[in-house]
Amino acid sequence: MISVKCPHCHVGLKVDEGKIPLDITFFNCPKCKQPIPVSMLSLGKGQNMPESDTVLIRPIKTTTGRLSVIANDDTPEQVFSLYEGLIIIGRKSNASKAQFGIVTADKSMSREHIRIEVKKDAKGGYKHYLSDNNSKNNTLYNSNYLKHGEIVVLSNNDEIVIGHTVLRFNE
Ligand SMILES: [Zn+2]
Repeated sequence: MISVKCPHCHVGLKVDEGKIPLDITFFNCPKCKQPIPVSMLSLGKGQNMPESDTVLIRPIKTTTGRLSVIANDDTPEQVFSLYEGLIIIGRKSNASKAQFGIVTADKSMSREHIRIEVKKDAKGGYKHYLSDNNSKNNTLYNSNYLKHGEIVVLSNNDEIVIGHTVLRFNE
């Protein structure tokens, strides 16, 4: 763990340096959302900071794509950053194991509605595999219902509808 202070809002941060990808040059402050250059982390080493104003940074993962939740009467706009691995997405709830909990009053959205598995491809890019996670009301993918067990590869601007909430995928 390295301690560092955000140069913008001056909040104290603790960073697990082993979990920061080497190819990023900045990360966003969890408090003020402004970019903090990664080069600052080495300078922060050995600093003593009061624990009280210290924020623990979650492991920083390379973003492979974005999933935007389109606002409607039940749902505010939300954007999630996708990363390598398995991501379950559904209605936010304490009883949910979903990695991405969507804040919504849309009860037709299951709490663990869809899954997106992100894998590296042969060219060094990432592929996003979408499937329905045995949801109650199924999943619309570009206006077609996903069949049980069907897996599709997402492309830029694809539209996913869960419950009556629309999600958009962007690379
Ligand atoms: Zn900050």
